[in-house]
Order: sequence, then C-alpha cells, then structure tokens
Amino acid sequence: MARERVVVVGGGLTAARAVESMREHGVDDEIVVVVEEHRWPYERPPLSKGYLAGDEPSSAIYPLDAAWYREHDVDVRRGVRATGLDIVARTLATDAGELPWDRLLLATGASPRRFDGPGAGLRGVHVLRTLPDSTRLRTALREGDRRVVVIGSSWIGLEVAAAARTYGNEVTVLGRGEAPLVGAVGRELGGMFADLHREHGVDVRTEVAVSAIEGGRGRAVGVLLTTGEALPADLVVVGIGATPNVELATSARLTVDDGIVTDAAFRTSADGVFAAGDVASVFNPTLGHRLRVEHWDNADASGRAVGRVLAGQDVEYDEIPYFFTDQYDLGMEYSGYGELAERAGLVVRGDLATRECIAFWVLDGRLVAAMNVNVWDVNDQVQRLIRSGEPVDPAALADPDVPLASIGASA
Ligand code: FAD
Repeated sequence: MARERVVVVGGGLTAARAVESMREHGVDDEIVVVVEEHRWPYERPPLSKGYLAGDEPSSAIYPLDAAWYREHDVDVRRGVRATGLDIVARTLATDAGELPWDRLLLATGASPRRFDGPGAGLRGVHVLRTLPDSTRLRTALREGDRRVVVIGSSWIGLEVAAAARTYGNEVTVLGRGEAPLVGAVGRELGGMFADLHREHGVDVRTEVAVSAIEGGRGRAVGVLLTTGEALPADLVVVGIGATPNVELATSARLTVDDGIVTDAAFRTSADGVFAAGDVASVFNPTLGHRLRVEHWDNADASGRAVGRVLAGQDVEYDEIPYFFTDQYDLGMEYSGYGELAERAGLVVRGDLATRECIAFWVLDGRLVAAMNVNVWDVNDQVQRLIRSGEPVDPAALADPDVPLASIGASA
C-alpha cells in the first residue's frame, strides 16, 4: 500500500506527543510537522517558572530532541506557518508552499489575550507564551529593583509575580475577582494564594480593573485603574488568559465553538481532520458535553491519545483534568472538574494557613475535584475517588489519620 502523509500543525507538547505516539503505535506513513516557531516543538510551563526564574536552561523544554525526529523519520518544518486549509482538495497552504495530506492534526494551541485598552502596544508591555517572550521578560526582570505591574491574577500572572520577586523587583498584581484565581479554585484557595504572595512582599490588589497602560516616549510608565489611581511601572505583564488558535479551522469552515469542536476521538467536523491540545474542544464522556482544557497534562495525554487515533486505534478520551503550579516554596496539583467544584462544598485536610493541605470539593456526596498543596503522592488516590463516583465521607476526607487509600467503596 502506498505510504500516506500525516501532517501535524503545531509546535507544542501536543504535536510532540502525537508524533511520538504515532511512531510508537506503528504508523509508518510520512509524518510532516509544520511549526511556525523557529524551534523544535516544546512545552511551556518552565517559561513562567524555572526558565523565567533562571533555574533551568532552555534545553529543558524540549520533550524530544533533534536526534529523535531524525531517527524516527519525522520531518519537522520549523519557521513555517500554515496559512490556509482546503478540506476538499486535502491540502494545507503554508508560507513555504502547499502541502497535500491524507490525515491532518491541528495542534495549534492558544495565543495570549491582549490588553484591549490604550497603551497595549507600548514597549515594556509583555505577554508570555513563547520562549522568546520568556527570554525578553527574564532579561527585563533580572535587572531587579524595577516596578513590575502584573495585569491578571491567574496562574501565569502569579507565577510571573513569584519569579519577579525572586529577582528583587517591586511587584503589584491586579485582579478583578475578590481573590486571585477565584474562577479556578474559589475564594478560600484563592485567598491562600493571595496570602502567599503578600508574605513575599507582593502588593496583591483585588476587585480592580485597568483602564489604560500609560506611556512616556513609547514606553510603559504606569497603569491606570478605573478608579483613577495611577500605579507607576517600569514594566507591565499582561496575563489575562488565552484564546484558541482556530483561524485555520474557521477558514475551512470546520465547526468551531470556543475551540475546534471534536468528538471524544478528536475527530473534527471534516473527515480526516483531527484536533487536540489547547485548541480543541473535545467531547467529555463523563460530563456529557465538550471541554476545552488549557493544561500541560492535557497536551501530554491528548497528544498521546490522538496519536493512537491516527494509528487507527479506537479511543475514547476521558482524562480527568489535571494541572500543577510552583510558586516560591509552594507546589500544588489539582485534579477534577472545575465546573462541578463551583457548586460543591469544600473539605480541607490539613491547614490552609500553613499551606500544607489537601482541599476536596464534594458535590452530592461525591468527590469532584481536589487540590494537594505541598502534600505529595496523593494524586492517584484523588483521581481514583473522582473517577469512581463513589460516595465519600467528608469527615474521613478531613481526617489526616485516615489514609486516602481506605476511602471509597473500591478502596
Ligand atoms: P501550544 O503549546 O500553544 O503550541 C501550539 C503551537 O502551534 C505553537 O508552537 C504555535 O506557534 C504553533 N502554531 C499555531 N498556529 C500555527 C500555524 N498556523 N502554523 C504553524 N504553527 C502554528 N499548564 C499546566 O498544567 N501547568 C503549568 O504550570 C503551566 N504553565 C504554563 C506556563 C506558560 C507560560 C504557558 C504559556 C502555559 C502554561 N501551561 C501550564 C499550559 C500549557 O503549557 C498548555 O496547555 C500547552 O502548552 C498546550 O500545548 P499545545 O501543544 O496544545 O499548544
């Protein structure tokens, strides 16, 4: 049989895991990866943590090295942008010419949301998504003793704040919610992160909105709040979320609705076209509706899973969303369904104040999410309890003397 061609668009972890998984599962078709960035596919968490803080080299961000792609006959075309998609002719237009495909994976990820008020284009205003973004920000933060204003108090904003403090900068974090991360982890846990940052000298402002970034001679010099208060700044970091890169899918009239719509096997509305990672809104069998997940673990797991689909296997993707963060001396993992946690009651094992605890979200007597903070090796048990849907006893969850392994009917 003639060798077919699989084309992957994307230069993140999803693309890397997909091609790795295809080769592992016996795909011997031609594989071409089209990557807009001028580097091998890489993962992003270190860009706001170890690499930004100067603890990790940039070489740590590549899940697969050049030798792997060579040895596995994967043609990675770096610095090539896909510009159009024809699902009838089965071709991908790129700025380096047209590429026919038999199967196509869109793993185009997401782009940082830009501040949409005055001053967004000034020098000294940073966003963080790529290695060059992180290098630029690191260079600026390293000088130390600068006034850094972070717009946005979600994960990336807080991680940048922590890195900025370690270089001895003066840091202010601005958020709209009553605590940082309220939408992600609720008021109590968000308050724990606020306390952590305040103890490290960050000015954490809540329930504030920015009306403009103020400039002088083309550079950011401050941030103006809607209250009229002006905060002087030497650099401004905008961390207000990301939007999925759906342009190719939209141009080809694939179904798009906050991400490229797929079934639980990553199949889009066009035959032979698949989507995974940050860009995909994938049907989740547990929830009974689609879910778009912007986490490292999803890029890793959905990349591997779509690789199996492209190898011809039957897959029903049903991972429990999982993510992690590291800030100062705090490390945490979160597993579960945020939308269910919003309606759930909170049970805490340990002490939020000392930041060594496990927070459990219990809805209708069942565990729907949990976050372990500076407590390790519990995620497997947490995921078992969430997946099983078994009734859990809140008193047992709260009691540090009750091993998690003994909770739940299947324990
Ligand atoms: P991406 O990593 O966004 O990769 C998409 C790639 O596609 C990019 O290389 C892009 O240039 C390329 N591309 C897009 N369009 C085209 C085109 N038309 N032609 C060619 N190439 C194209 N998650 C966690 O769980 N924990 C963390 O601590 C954490 N930290 C993070 C820190 C930072 C700074 C960032 C930005 C993200 C972090 N995340 C974290 C989220 C995690 O990194 C993402 O979920 C993950 O990167 C998604 O991978 P992806 O491959 O789907 O997309």
